Amino acid sequence: MVRYWTSKKQKSVVSERREQLDLLFEFANTELKEKKNDQLKRQIYDLLNSIMTGHSETCPDLISAGSDELINGLQKHIRARLKKIIHNTKLLAEMPLWKMGGSIEFTVEAKINRFHERFRFRKIKAGNELKALKRMIDKAIIDIIRDLDFKPNRFHQCPRCGNFFYQPTEKEKSYCSIRCGDAVRLQQFRKLKKNNISK
Ligand SMILES: [Zn+2]
Repeated sequence: MVRYWTSKKQKSVVSERREQLDLLFEFANTELKEKKNDQLKRQIYDLLNSIMTGHSETCPDLISAGSDELINGLQKHIRARLKKIIHNTKLLAEMPLWKMGGSIEFTVEAKINRFHERFRFRKIKAGNELKALKRMIDKAIIDIIRDLDFKPNRFHQCPRCGNFFYQPTEKEKSYCSIRCGDAVRLQQFRKLKKNNISK
């Protein structure tokens, strides 16, 4: 079994983070114009809502502003982030990915004897909804990667269909699916055969 977590505490969040990651990949890989994707859009907004819990004072009413324009902008943003991870992984130096403005609030909850750390977004001006939602997504990606202890070089984009995916094990995975891998192998085989015949 593959272990993505690094501590006992994180074990409890693994399944939730895995689901969030799958959702982000599905969102990045889906053609949104089709009507049947309304449920996917709803799931994305639910995810953003869960990130914003406790941030209502800095991000008022973002979700009620949900429109196709916002969701398309968000999708573009996720794709760009994934592309950047994949691109920067191939470079040899420590490469910046993105910055997030805000502050960390550190508290103690005596009743249950626990420390709490909470990130607070910088205040968002009205009219900047897309910018705010992009920040939420950035935070979601950071939380997922940190909690699952992901390796950067396991993020890929399928060279055949363009889908993004995460390679779950050490074993190198070049294509997003068996279908894409088989299609490429078949194509290479046909090309080889054709070249042999024409010789
Ligand atoms: Zn593919």
